[in-house]
Amino acid sequence: MLKKLLTEIVTSIAGKQAEQIVDLLDGEKYVNEFLIAKKLNLTINQTRNILYKISDEGLVSFIRKKDKRKGWYTYFWKIEVMKSLEFLREAILKQMEQVQHQIKSRETKEFYTCETCNIEFNEETALVHNFICNECGNIVSRKDNSPAIKEYNKELDKLRKELESVDDEIKIEKEKVEKKKAKEMKKEERLAKKEKEKKKAEKAKNAPKKEKAKVKKSAKPSKKSVKKTKSKK
Ligand SMILES: [Zn+2]
Repeated sequence: MLKKLLTEIVTSIAGKQAEQIVDLLDGEKYVNEFLIAKKLNLTINQTRNILYKISDEGLVSFIRKKDKRKGWYTYFWKIEVMKSLEFLREAILKQMEQVQHQIKSRETKEFYTCETCNIEFNEETALVHNFICNECGNIVSRKDNSPAIKEYNKELDKLRKELESVDDEIKIEKEKVEKKKAKEMKKEERLAKKEKEKKKAEKAKNAPKKEKAKVKKSAKPSKKSVKKTKSKK
């Protein structure tokens, strides 16, 4: 499902040429652009053009590495799954709003049609032309809006379902990100604990000498002994 949605987003931005790019991009690892170009059977410039278009919307990101020998940069690309899903979500919401607007307009306004020319007029235009078609001169007839409303409602249902599947994917992606974060935090905690234990062990190792030095110091510090402990540390 996610692949299908991502493909939809990418092609809506960069055209049909970009259709296969989603299969080649990864959400975790960066992929070498020369590999993408080869698999898409496109030149490196064509490939970059597609990726730049998608990158303008923030839906892919890149890192670049310099070839030390040749001196040029190779780009490595990754798809930004969450940003892409949010982008699609916004697009669907916008479409839904437009359809709802159409439904409302069909429900509240009158429309007229010339059956000969198959042209539609809104109420204001029909009134201006005295309900006569300006193309053929026939009288226009009032339109039954219910078939159009039915169609728009079907479209709205479809968009609603799509929105649901996008929201499902967003939820999955969020969980994935949180899990990854938790894992990284645990790893950091583990490392910090190890470091702490290491320091503690070192301290314990040095402790007897330090104590001796302290005792000496507090008793009667001689220049020699202080110097000695310092240099050992
Ligand atoms: Zn007409």
